[in-house]
Amino acid sequence: MLDLKSKRTSVQSTGNHFTHERRQMIEFLRSRGITDDRVLRVMQDLPREIFLDSHFAVRSYEDSALPIGSGQTISQPYTVAYMTQALRLKPQEKVLEIGTGSGYQASVLFALGCKVFTIERHMPLLQEAKKRFDLLGYHNILSRGGDGSRGWDEYAPYDAIIVTAGAPDVPETLVKQLNPNGGRLIIPVGSLEKQKMYLIVSNEGKLTVTELPEFMFVPLIGKEGWSQDDRK
Ligand code: SAM
Repeated sequence: MLDLKSKRTSVQSTGNHFTHERRQMIEFLRSRGITDDRVLRVMQDLPREIFLDSHFAVRSYEDSALPIGSGQTISQPYTVAYMTQALRLKPQEKVLEIGTGSGYQASVLFALGCKVFTIERHMPLLQEAKKRFDLLGYHNILSRGGDGSRGWDEYAPYDAIIVTAGAPDVPETLVKQLNPNGGRLIIPVGSLEKQKMYLIVSNEGKLTVTELPEFMFVPLIGKEGWSQDDRK
């Protein structure tokens, strides 16, 4: 059995080390229009440095996307806060994340009290993310490897789906896996260089689409995303 007590202690002591930087990050997020206190509180408490390689630890609370291996990045804190806030999540809601990456976004969702399902196509990233979930005691996050552009049918429908990679179009399969009574999908869609964020809400099968600002993401690679060849 994992010795969680000692691991939790080490998370806390790492966390305390960056208390000041984390507060500054929260102030920055507020200044950029993040107003959801629950989201801010969770991000204030979660040690972002444990989701990064140790030599990036000093940069953990910069508003930057940072490398996590396999050519991928952890999203910048503002992007995580923005997407999470836009979903207006309630505790116990079922949320599917496409693109586990470091596991930071999934951990924010879990700390908000959601039932979290997350998919990552790079197995080494998924394995590292799982270790972090264990370290935090977030054992109920369900994760798997594979192509998330086709969702995770087994546990559908979801109250919310968050896609943390840029897609060429909205994957139809993900829309179909939304709860028809108020399910929300947030997804960056556009070119390989930049994407517009979209919030899609399903109400009795009728979709309401809201266009949000532009962001920059690594590509969603998969059957209902970009193909590997598109990147060459
Ligand atoms: N949410 C992550 C975090 O908190 O660290 C950051 C995600 S990173 C910007 C995008 C991730 O999406 C990468 O790890 C990438 O490998 C993954 N990805 C891209 N296409 C995917 C697909 N079809 N299925 C699952 N994961 C995918």
